[in-house]
Amino acid sequence: MTLDERERRYLRIQKELGGDELILSDEAVGQSSGPAAVVETPSTASSAPTASSVRPPDRPPDRPTAWQKGAPAIPTTSGINVSAPERSLMDIPHLEENLDEVAAAIAACRKCFLCEGRTHTVPGEGSPSAGLMFVGEGPGQVEDETGRPFVGRAGELLNQIIQSVGLKREEVFIANAVKCRPPGNRKPLPDEIAACMPYLERQIELLRPRVLVALGATAAEALLQVRRSLADLRGRVHSYRGIPLVVTYHPAALLRNPNWKKPTWDDIRIARQLLDR
Ligand code: URA
Ligand code: SF4
Repeated sequence: MTLDERERRYLRIQKELGGDELILSDEAVGQSSGPAAVVETPSTASSAPTASSVRPPDRPPDRPTAWQKGAPAIPTTSGINVSAPERSLMDIPHLEENLDEVAAAIAACRKCFLCEGRTHTVPGEGSPSAGLMFVGEGPGQVEDETGRPFVGRAGELLNQIIQSVGLKREEVFIANAVKCRPPGNRKPLPDEIAACMPYLERQIELLRPRVLVALGATAAEALLQVRRSLADLRGRVHSYRGIPLVVTYHPAALLRNPNWKKPTWDDIRIARQLLDR
């Protein structure tokens, strides 16, 4: 992809997410002078990179700072604090040593009714060194067919959301509250979530992401152990076992109500700032 194409794609995503002000700014239209000028050397370019064109390999190619323009400040309103349970020596459960072992345990799991209807388990995927971890609700049809999280229409939107803050899907981690598809895409029931949570808890424990993002009320309630409206849970930074947690809309909700795209982008920009903090 050429720089020009990348730039256009980036601006298209910004607009999708309600960032028109960025598109109108000089910075966003890519003036070649000034501090915000693009310094990217396309990876296909044969010329040796200059000092100013070098960026860490884990940084995306498109404007690394454009998302910061107009981003809300990190909220200071206090959030919900979930602390790690105390474990006594008597009740140490079997703990998987790494993410592959967690996925293997999930593949063999029959702890709840959802195992009956699954084609594939969907343990989650991403970088084992991810700083940012997204938690959704549960697999949908395409996810069940492929064994991968967020690969349907909601997944495409999630990819755009990730890219809108200068990250790539491969460098974050994406998981769900339940790992098997609920029939007819219904919400997972409380006992199904309770049965499945140890896997998500272990994934978080192994990853130790710097920031968690709960996508939608189901994921937020599963992690924060409360029943609240999304309106009440958004706009503050919670703490899940010491990890900052931001709650935002589920991408599938954005497909139904595009007015929520801009607030979602704001939430993600808060999470993105927490990642840098
Ligand atoms: N919705 C979710 O909550 N998770 C997925 O993996 C896909 C859609
Ligand atoms: Fe096991 Fe979770 Fe699947 Fe239920 S949803 S069978 S607890 S992996």
